[in-house]
Amino acid sequence: MELNTAIKQLNDVDSKLHALNHAQAMIYWDGAIGAPKNSVEGRAKTLSILTGEYYNTLVNDDFNELLSFLQNNISNLDYITSKKVENFRNEYDKIAKIPQEDYSEYTAVQAKSGAAWEEAKEKNDFSIFAPHLEKVINYNKKFIEYRGFNKHPYNTLLDDYEKGITTDDLDEFFSELKNTIVPLVAKIKESGVDINTEFAYKHYDVKKQDKLNKKLLESIGFNMDSGLIEESVHPFTTNFNRNDVRITTHYYDNNVLSALYSTIHEGGHAIYEQNISEELEYSTLCGGTSMGIHESQSRFFENVIGRSYSFLEYLFPMVQEAFPENLSDVTAYDFYFAANESSPSLVRIEADELTYSLHIMIRYEIEKLLFENKVLVEDLPKLWNEKYHEYMGLTPKSDAEGILQDVHWSEGYFGYFPSYALGNAYASQFAHTMKNVIDFDEDLKNGNFDNINNWLHDNIHKHGKLLTPKEIIEKATGEPLNAKYYTKYLEEKYSKLYNLK
Ligand SMILES: [Zn+2]
Repeated sequence: MELNTAIKQLNDVDSKLHALNHAQAMIYWDGAIGAPKNSVEGRAKTLSILTGEYYNTLVNDDFNELLSFLQNNISNLDYITSKKVENFRNEYDKIAKIPQEDYSEYTAVQAKSGAAWEEAKEKNDFSIFAPHLEKVINYNKKFIEYRGFNKHPYNTLLDDYEKGITTDDLDEFFSELKNTIVPLVAKIKESGVDINTEFAYKHYDVKKQDKLNKKLLESIGFNMDSGLIEESVHPFTTNFNRNDVRITTHYYDNNVLSALYSTIHEGGHAIYEQNISEELEYSTLCGGTSMGIHESQSRFFENVIGRSYSFLEYLFPMVQEAFPENLSDVTAYDFYFAANESSPSLVRIEADELTYSLHIMIRYEIEKLLFENKVLVEDLPKLWNEKYHEYMGLTPKSDAEGILQDVHWSEGYFGYFPSYALGNAYASQFAHTMKNVIDFDEDLKNGNFDNINNWLHDNIHKHGKLLTPKEIIEKATGEPLNAKYYTKYLEEKYSKLYNLK
């Protein structure tokens, strides 16, 4: 085979897979933002055909041979092509090791499990979901056997979301977080400080909120010509290509904070996607490199920026101007306190910045036990409640606000949760490095995002999937992931907010 012919064939497959992703993502987007109720079946049918097409384009003997040929000539390939070969080889091996029969059976198991989870949550009855969850877990165990593992079976799943991360890394990481956060939460409780948040929960007209949120999104550097914002039940981001990145938010007419922080969170995801290098346009390499790095960008915008006093000095006057009836007596300082109130809670998606990672730690510990065969599915609700009691001092009154709250396990996303906590830690480490070269607080006070977004572009965004998470963090900050930046950030921030000694 000619090398140039092989490269062209590789690029053709790459373009086709990118196009299939585009079509699938568009159908998901449509479903989330208001396709008619009766469109469910038709969308599922089209999606299953597109998924099959994706599988067949990637997993076949011709493509396997093409990849092997290019791997043998890797030193003659340009940088981007060699990365494509490397990534496709990983993806190929991951999928090809699982027999197609198991794969399609698993898809059916997932669908049933998703429906059972919804019903169980609605009826507050874990026993409806338990047998399905058990099947999903067993399939994942089977897949780990097919795929093999390094040291710990759970590592294979972790690697799907955060390449290279292992249970050893995470055990150390979460123990540092626990040693900082648990005592901080206790001190806050003892402090007796009561933050006034009442003004944030008055009546806030949704149309006015919509206008304000669009203004916020533009001011942080989201390009409205290459993206848009809509409303959905659960906020999310989807990207078709770097010139078409869409986010959603959710408005409550009795809460001004919720939508603002959803918008800035999803805005962080979207700015990442919009700023990937043009060289990677329409390739499968044009996307965030991992769940953890993606989440670092959303949390950097939501928490490090959005919940900082400097940024609120800039943002609050806009909020006040939109809602003078609720906020004329309120200051940026009051708003800053309200946006940072912390108290232990039972529901992850409503958690504050400080206690959020405890929710993740609980899920990580349970997932690890599951894949060590040390806990039975029927015992999960009890284990869940014990852990919430231990770390939060709270016990769920029902399984609906306990073990049934998250959709992830019903769809088989084991190994996904840790990325949320890793994102928080990466974000602090990036911020620490960035602050050495940028007048961070001065820029935020003035709503000037040029320096910040340029730094993110040069160190993170432009690389797309060319670098692994480990490579990104080391190149950008000069050292591997170090939880200390995050724990130090939390200690400083909450000690000031709650007057702790
Ligand atoms: Zn996110």
